[in-house]
Amino acid sequence: MPEKITAYRFDYLDETLSQLNKEDCAIVAGGTDVMVLHKSGRGVPPKIPKPVVFIDHLSELKRVYQKDKDLHIGSCSTYGELLENPLIPIALKNAIKTIAAPAIRNRGTLGGNICNASPAGDTLPLLYVYNAKLLLRSVNGDRVVAISDFIQAPRRIGRNHNEILAEIILPSVLEEGSHVVFEKIGNRNADAIAKVSFAGYIRISNERIDDIRFAFGAVGPTMVRSIDIEKKLLGKPFPLSETDIDSIVADFDQIIRPIDDQRSTAVYRKTVALNLLRYFLNTSQYQPN
Ligand SMILES: Cc1cc2nc3c(=O)[nH]c(=O)nc-3n(C[C@H](O)[C@H](O)[C@H](O)COP(=O)(O)OP(=O)(O)OC[C@H]3O[C@@H](n4cnc5c(N)ncnc54)[C@H](O)[C@@H]3O)c2cc1C
Repeated sequence: MPEKITAYRFDYLDETLSQLNKEDCAIVAGGTDVMVLHKSGRGVPPKIPKPVVFIDHLSELKRVYQKDKDLHIGSCSTYGELLENPLIPIALKNAIKTIAAPAIRNRGTLGGNICNASPAGDTLPLLYVYNAKLLLRSVNGDRVVAISDFIQAPRRIGRNHNEILAEIILPSVLEEGSHVVFEKIGNRNADAIAKVSFAGYIRISNERIDDIRFAFGAVGPTMVRSIDIEKKLLGKPFPLSETDIDSIVADFDQIIRPIDDQRSTAVYRKTVALNLLRYFLNTSQYQPN
């Protein structure tokens, strides 16, 4: 006889937040990470050690809208829904297309990818270079945190047990003029966990670099980004000189420290990460997107 667990599925976000305030529950959005994390044997229901609260049906968590130049994405928007939404930037759609197969993309959510805090989460490098902010909601109100502060370590996030990630905010993402890329190296095009991933963001003004950002996935416990290194390139003439490119690649060589695991080796990961960076910096024609 399978063990019974308590499960909640409220009609409104307010009721869900009240329950979370009374009781520490396991939040389930699409469930594609939760079910794997708690799986038991074949044919045996997963063992989740807390009461479960479902949130993926809540319309308050599925809105995608523009406010000034910022894009607000409801945390429970599935990948499938985001792919169909004209407000979602092409680079983010490109990253989503590399995630799993359509069945998972119809269940998995952007909020789930963030709160799962995997070093190989495919949307994370881009969310870092977009300077994403996260709106957390509880019975006490809202607070907004930078994604780089929220994700603390593999599977560790700065969420209080009574909070839900309600929205992902991409500041100024709807402003024109920047060029953003996402690259993922895995065993095959879809349905593969990243060995290495990379996101680059650049904005040029009067043939000089106005803004530039990079983030690497799967080469450290969380995304690797360095604002100090990025600052060195601000104001530099574009295209960059070989000396500048070599110096930035050497800087990242110092701070990227991948590990060997079942998916890849540290040496391969580092080589590919630095190659992706060099390729991005070497590009002399950027298409704003
Ligand atoms: C076969 C398969 C292939 C996959 N391939 C990829 C891949 O290629 N790339 C990739 O990045 N991932 C992949 N994943 C992982 C997974 O699909 C994604 O991480 C997905 O985005 C998780 O979303 P979810 O809604 O299913 O999260 P859930 O499993 O529901 O939740 C994940 C975690 O986040 C918490 N959570 C979810 N939403 C919220 C919220 N709004 N507020 C607070 N906490 C919340 C949950 O409590 C849980 O701890 C794969 C998974 C499977 C099973």
